[in-house]
Parts: sequence; structure tokens; C-alpha cells
Amino acid sequence: MTTRQDCSVLDDGDELGALRQAFTLEDGMLYLDGNSLGPVSEGVLRRVRETIEGEWAHGLIRSWNSAGWMAAPTAVGNRLAPLIGAQPGEVLVADTLTFILAKLIGGALELRPDRDVVLTDAANFHSDLYIVEAMAARAGRPIIVKRINRLTLHEELNDNVALVMLTHVDFRTGEMLDLSGITRDVHEVGALMLWDFAHSAGAVPLDVTEANVDFAAGCGYKYLNGGPGAPAFMYVRSSWQGLLQNPFPGWLGHARPFDFESAYVAAEGMQAYVTSSPPVLALAALDGALDVWDRVTMQQVRRKSLALTDLFISLVEELLPGVFEVVTPREHERRGSQVSLRHEFSYEIVQALIERGVIGDFREPDMCRFGFAPLYLRFIDIYDSVQHLVSVMESESYRDQRFAVRNPVT
Ligand SMILES: *Cc1c(COP(=O)(O)O)cnc(C)c1O
Repeated sequence: MTTRQDCSVLDDGDELGALRQAFTLEDGMLYLDGNSLGPVSEGVLRRVRETIEGEWAHGLIRSWNSAGWMAAPTAVGNRLAPLIGAQPGEVLVADTLTFILAKLIGGALELRPDRDVVLTDAANFHSDLYIVEAMAARAGRPIIVKRINRLTLHEELNDNVALVMLTHVDFRTGEMLDLSGITRDVHEVGALMLWDFAHSAGAVPLDVTEANVDFAAGCGYKYLNGGPGAPAFMYVRSSWQGLLQNPFPGWLGHARPFDFESAYVAAEGMQAYVTSSPPVLALAALDGALDVWDRVTMQQVRRKSLALTDLFISLVEELLPGVFEVVTPREHERRGSQVSLRHEFSYEIVQALIERGVIGDFREPDMCRFGFAPLYLRFIDIYDSVQHLVSVMESESYRDQRFAVRNPVT
């Protein structure tokens, strides 16, 4: 049985241990929700302050030129690119995730005009499902969106399929899919592959170049710690740039926005996928959040992530045998950086834990979800969190009526 002392020894030997100091985390709080909203880091505080006090307050409109505000979407994209294995000039940060998916889906359907099927996972995130159906309905030709069981993807792939859109790490269960294998199978029938990396970027190593991914998008506010409502990132493989059209053209995706021409002419490269003025303050926050990522490799992050999730699973099974169903796969190659536990009273259990300072979240219909962000979590945090879970379960304190009250955000 792993003891708290064992965990303390693991922390002493942790090559990422020093990074925790870069984050603002209250004493006594055990934050297992970095998969939903990452904490603030010193890089964010510094960059946002500089941007407001220097570039905005002092520079005012001159800063569009002098502070590089116009170039921020591509500059932040280039900084983020190595985290997903992309090349410079393949990543843009301008819109939030659902809107990026809309652009990629709309553009991709035009690249396969003789095909009329889009495949996605019935268990996909609801926003992804809504937007794929909305974009299909506006495609200018009849498109069928099939919500499939991803295990049957092979049976569904044929030469009518224009696009396959999957989320790489399942937001409920934490299951990770085979990035290069699935992309290869999709390409074999001539379809295009769009990956959602919302729960992958900053959580697991990704190599879009090696996997030959066509398009991808992922969140800025989850494991990347870019702040509430942070813009997301968009990846378009360089060979598709210029061919993939932006279905939402706006002045800042124009080749010459300040010529105010009446006809749209797309800019070169990723700039073509910009629509509106960049969210400069939010981009500054995300840019600052990337500072800490300069100090690690994704291989180091992955090693610690697996050690943390292994520890959590083994402690839950040792100390609470048979109480929860561990929904997240045990095999490392199928696990993201979260662990989900199924229980009839999951909502109440999560609320009881939050009252004790252990922050996780609940996902319908019956899952307690815990995210493990290796940049700031310690092994003793995992140990202490499981001790709180044991207390909540053994005392049955979760049965108190106040824990059954539903908040709008779960
Ligand atoms: C978090 C998440 C989103 C939400 O994206 P927005 O930036 O709020 O549009 C979409 N899809 C998945 C899979 C997510 O996990």
C-alpha cells in the first residue's frame, strides 16, 4: 500500500516539481479540475499587466503596429505549435473552439464536393455535435451527419465519407483514441480527418505531422491554462492552406484589410482563417500561460501524468474496493490525463469533495471526473484527495441534502 511518505519521496524526485511555484494555488486546495479550467500562472499575470498598462494604456491605437497585436493570432499559434507537433505557420489562435470547428467543417466539406457523409462519435461533446449538424445543414448540398459508435468506425468508412470528426480524448471517460491509426484509415477511403484536441493539448504528446492530420482544434483554457474563455487553437496542415476556404470571411482574413476593398481576397497562410479583430487581452493571457510550457517536454508531462493517474486509480481501488467503477482505461496507450469514476451519487460526492477543498467535477449521467495536470499537482495531492474521498464515502456525508442542489455549472 502506498503511504503519504512514499508520495512525499516521489515529489522530492519529481523533475517537474519546481513548476508548481509558477502557479497561484491556494493552500489546502486540491485542484483536480485543470482539465476544465487551468489555474493562473505568473506568466499570465505578467503578460496581461504589460498588455493593459503598457500596450493599451500607454500605446493605445499605436499598439496595433508597435506591440504586434495584429500578428498575435499567428504568433501565439507558432508558440503553441510544438505542443501538438505542428510546424511554424500551421497554427492560429483567434476564436473559441466551437467556432473553429465550424470553420474547419465548413471548409472541409467544400474540399470533398462529391461526397455527402460526415462521421462523428455519438458520444462526442454536445457542442461538437451541434455545430457539425448546423454546418452540414448549410453546406449547399444534402449532407448526412452520422453519429456512430466509434468502435464501428471501420464499417462506416467508404468513398461517400467526406469528413470524420472525432475527439481524441473522450471528455467523459478519459479514453484516448489512436491518432495515427485512425487518421490513416480515414485517409485510405479518401476522407478528411478533423481531430478535437480539447482534452489532449497539454495533456498528452501529440504529433500531427507524423500522424498526417488534416485539421485539428483544441482548447486554450483547459490544460494550457489560458484563462476562462481563452481562445482556442486551429491547426491546418500546410498542404491544405490556400485550398481550404474560410466559410466566415471577415476583414482581417483579407490579403489587404486596410485597403477596404469591396471584394474578398483571402490572405496567405493561416491568416486567411481569421475573421475579426483578435481578442488581444485573452491572447496575452494565453501567451503568458505558454511560458511554463517552454520549460518542459510533453514526454516529461506524459510520464508524470501516467504516474499520477496510476496512483489515483490504485489508491481508490485499494481503499474503496468495489465502491466505484473506474471508467477510464487502465492501458496507458488508451488513457488521457483524467480519471472518471462511476457511482449512483456522483453529483453529491463531487459536491461533498468540493466543500472539503478537493475540486473535481461531475459529468452526466453518473461520473465523478478528476483531471491530473502534471505541471502543478504533487503526488501527496493525489494521496490527500483520495483520503478525502474515503472520508466522504465512509461517513456517507454526501447524503446530506445540501449536496443534491444542482448548480448551473457542474
Ligand atoms: C471544452 C470543449 C469544448 C468547448 O469549446 P468552446 O471553446 O467553449 O467553444 C468543445 N468541445 C470539446 C470536446 C470540449 O471538451
